[in-house]
Amino acid sequence: MDWSAIAASLTTQGLEVIQDPQQRKKLSTDYAHFSPILMAQLEGKQADLVVLARSEPEAIAVIRCCVANQIPLTVRGAGTGNYGQCVPLEGGIVLDLSPMQRIISLEPGRAVVEPGVKLGKLEQQAKQMGWELRLLPSTYQTATVGGFVSGGSTGMGAVNYGTLFDPGNVQSLTVLTMEAEPQRLILSGEAAQPVIHGYGTNGIITEITLPLTPALPWREAIVSFTNLSSAIAFAQNLAHQDGIVSKEISIQADPIPQYFSSLKSYYQPGAHWVMVIVSELDWLAFTQLAKASKGEIIFEQDPQSPGKKINLIEFNWNHTTLLARAVDPSLTYLQVFFYRDVEQILALAKLFKDEIMFHIEIMRIQGQMCLAGFPLVKFINGDRLEEIMAAHQNLGARIANPHTYSLAGGSVQPLPESQLIFKRQVDPLNLLNPGKLTD
Ligand SMILES: Cc1cc2nc3c(=O)[nH]c(=O)nc-3n(C[C@H](O)[C@H](O)[C@H](O)COP(=O)(O)OP(=O)(O)OC[C@H]3O[C@@H](n4cnc5c(N)ncnc54)[C@H](O)[C@@H]3O)c2cc1C
Repeated sequence: MDWSAIAASLTTQGLEVIQDPQQRKKLSTDYAHFSPILMAQLEGKQADLVVLARSEPEAIAVIRCCVANQIPLTVRGAGTGNYGQCVPLEGGIVLDLSPMQRIISLEPGRAVVEPGVKLGKLEQQAKQMGWELRLLPSTYQTATVGGFVSGGSTGMGAVNYGTLFDPGNVQSLTVLTMEAEPQRLILSGEAAQPVIHGYGTNGIITEITLPLTPALPWREAIVSFTNLSSAIAFAQNLAHQDGIVSKEISIQADPIPQYFSSLKSYYQPGAHWVMVIVSELDWLAFTQLAKASKGEIIFEQDPQSPGKKINLIEFNWNHTTLLARAVDPSLTYLQVFFYRDVEQILALAKLFKDEIMFHIEIMRIQGQMCLAGFPLVKFINGDRLEEIMAAHQNLGARIANPHTYSLAGGSVQPLPESQLIFKRQVDPLNLLNPGKLTD
């Protein structure tokens, strides 16, 4: 392929094209390095060109060029994905949509945005109107809306709203097809499902409609427990309270809190932490519940307070892994659904001792409060990691393998047939992020 000619043609059409090898390398990576398995598999995978689009017509120009020349195209938002989602396995063009940053409309209960809008910026603007997003990943300050919808799943708010897959949480998507004459599909409700968490393999999202929820005054807290069972029981009990509204409940089992260096003055060896964001309006009931559960509130803050240094959500979800790896880079992680079975966790803790450290998020799955684990694992080698995952499965837990870049091998199992059919319709030449839907 004559990449200089392709670059020249796109530049002539007013697009910004990056050819510099260092820049291309940087814009061909994400946070897959949390997995030593993925790191080895993705080594050296790099775009031949990176193209920035500021508008839908610019994105269409790139699609036309790719289809005409049969060039693989991988979309990129902020590049914070964990599974190499925006790493171009077959090279080609990385299409960076982060410049598409227009908030098209913001009204009570609903936001319509371009894909490059940062979730943090949207949240801030929604809050000024008394509303907030239902779900936010812990990377919300840097991640884009398009990247979250295409590569993420849930985060803060999961205890109330589940995941992006739950009907209602993504209202509508405008998607461009990968054809010589790209179609502009408006997919509402169920029709948008094949694109959600689709890693950009089945259409390029140019507009997103998300629901908003009324904003509450929140308070952040850490409740410390001397044993893991009590911490889990408290977290589950809190999640089930009808009169105490929470939007984040996690369990950070000993010794995980030791990795949180900016919280080290609160750390006591042997402590298991429950980290929560609860409604300020329910604070008294929350403190009484914590006391009755024999938990000690060791940290609390108003997240809106000026000059605050701690952002509690940035210790949770995959930020736990990020912070732990900053101290011990030999750590990796798993993604496990324990559903409601605490015994599985206690059995695994006994079996693997200090080889596994339990980080658990409470999330709503089909109306039930569930335990979703992101355990930290001391990485020895791939075989041992497989053994550990098998041990989880043998006990009845479901693994959403974070050590694979293909959707079929990871969290969406089995891949619905409708998704494969949709893929053939919108990307008949299989040019969109090839290798990511199935191996
Ligand atoms: C420390 C850390 C914590 C994290 N915590 C969470 C969490 O709490 N919850 C969670 O769900 N995830 C989490 N993640 C993963 C990731 O940060 C989020 O999913 C984030 O929302 C991805 O957004 P992004 O803009 O970085 O997307 P990118 O990484 O740029 O892209 C993600 C995928 O979406 C595709 N894509 C991007 N834009 C488009 C588009 N417009 N059209 C079609 N496809 C597109 C890309 O091709 C890629 O496959 C975490 C990651 C890290 C490193």
